[in-house]
Amino acid sequence: MSPEEDTQDPRLQQLVDGVVRLAAGELNARIEPSGRRDDIDAVITGVNLLAEELEYIHSDMEQRVADRTAMLRRTQAGLEQMAKTDALTGLANRTLLYEWIREATLATAGDGTSPAVLVLDLDSFKVINDTLGHGAGDAVLVEVARRLRSAVRASDTVARLGGDEFAVVITESADEEVLHIARRVSERLQEGVQIGTDTVWAMASIGVCIGTPGYPAEALMRDADIAMYQAKAQGRNNVQLFQPEMLDAVRERSRTTAELRRAVAGGELELQYQPVIELASGRVTALEALLRWHHPVQGTIMPDSFIQIAEETGLILELGRWVLHEAIRQMSAWHNAAPDLADFRLHVNLSAVELLRSDLLEDVRDTLTAHGVDPQRLVMEITETVLMSRGTAEEQVLGRLRDLGVGLQIDDFGTGYSSISYLRSLPADTVNVDHSLIRDICSDPQQQRFVAAILQLISSAGLQAIVEGIETGEQAAQLQAMGYLYGQGYYYGRPVPAGEVLDRLRVPLSPR
Ligand code: C2E
Ligand code: MG
Ligand code: MG
Repeated sequence: MSPEEDTQDPRLQQLVDGVVRLAAGELNARIEPSGRRDDIDAVITGVNLLAEELEYIHSDMEQRVADRTAMLRRTQAGLEQMAKTDALTGLANRTLLYEWIREATLATAGDGTSPAVLVLDLDSFKVINDTLGHGAGDAVLVEVARRLRSAVRASDTVARLGGDEFAVVITESADEEVLHIARRVSERLQEGVQIGTDTVWAMASIGVCIGTPGYPAEALMRDADIAMYQAKAQGRNNVQLFQPEMLDAVRERSRTTAELRRAVAGGELELQYQPVIELASGRVTALEALLRWHHPVQGTIMPDSFIQIAEETGLILELGRWVLHEAIRQMSAWHNAAPDLADFRLHVNLSAVELLRSDLLEDVRDTLTAHGVDPQRLVMEITETVLMSRGTAEEQVLGRLRDLGVGLQIDDFGTGYSSISYLRSLPADTVNVDHSLIRDICSDPQQQRFVAAILQLISSAGLQAIVEGIETGEQAAQLQAMGYLYGQGYYYGRPVPAGEVLDRLRVPLSPR
């Protein structure tokens, strides 16, 4: 060891230690100056100042990182919230609803209770949207959201599932209480909603499912949904509690759907034809094609049992195409077999969904051309409710069908929400007066006056009336006396298979 090293100032070692500690990240390390105020002390003071500065910069940096992280977290939470709420109503969306149901299921797992769900679907939202525009539709949804919130407790959660569908999750309530809440929700929706100068109604069909411990969220929602469909089927604007039998009905429906799909390809469908009569002469002026399904096991199934299912599943497009082709083919076959027969028209029923079939016009035109049938001989029957709620797309299709020369008939007039002012603007030439209106015409003078007024209304709208459901000679005479020209009903002839039509067309002019 050299004498110089021996006599080295110990502060140098302290200085080295201090710098090493600082370099290791110990920013609060400081070196004690000696008070000698020489160069070494100056370096010590310098290093201490640097350490001070470093410590400050470091803590400032840490603070900033913490701030930014908090900001990021807040933004992320906001984004998550946005992804889980419905922008229009501010209610939870489907994703958040499922989270809540799962949470509520877990939270109540121990105490033997479980959450209940209400699923609501507005009954005539499409009509509001179509007639008053989307702005009005949005305003109705916002108002419905507000009423739902006000009808439930703060602890219950309300969500919008999309479109005009809403849901409510109710926890910690006895079954009776859940039903009570559902009825209160329904009551709140009975009141009209004011949109500018218009009042509209936003009643709903409500399905309720009360879970049992361990009921998965998905099953709860599915079953509330099934109950909601039941409420629709029961005439809408009511509350239905899910019952396990409803599930059987759903399975039955899906079996029917599968079988119906097979029926189209498998030749199980048939068209029968019912005459439309000129009342005074008994002459057949038209034939209405009515669909029959010959099920291999269940026998003949009537359209009222399957048309709605076909409409809901979209199968109606395939059915409708078959009906159109078959009816027009048959029309030309009759004409070829008996060219001497007087002219008569062919009526084909068209569902609402079919009006939006992209190739409908082409199909109608091409099929008529292919079979050499004059478009004037075809009449499309469209129900009153479809015509009332038609949008611009439907309007265009109806207009083009008329341009083609095809006749349009309003079917089942008097069963929908008939609005008298609408009658004049409807793009039709004939009106089929529903049989419910003429049922009591011979025994009820008031009903007779009512029907007479309807006849007056139809003819002043420039339309031709056809009364359906004439079952007795008395009714026929009565209607004729009231000025009706055309009718249809069992009295004149039930729907018959195509093979029996020519005989029917050749019978003497006077009715049976
Ligand atoms: P709709 O178009 O109003 O047809 C008249 C219905 O009344 C037919 O029932 C007919 O058989 C029945 N009817 C005729 N005369 C009388 C009568 O004197 N008394 C009574 N009580 N009923 C009478 P159907 O054939 O069961 O058809 C029911 C409905 O199914 C039709 O009502 C129509 O809306 C629909 N439908 C039938 N075929 C088709 C089709 O090819 N396509 C579509 N989309 N719907 C169809
Ligand atoms: Mg019809
Ligand atoms: Mg009808």
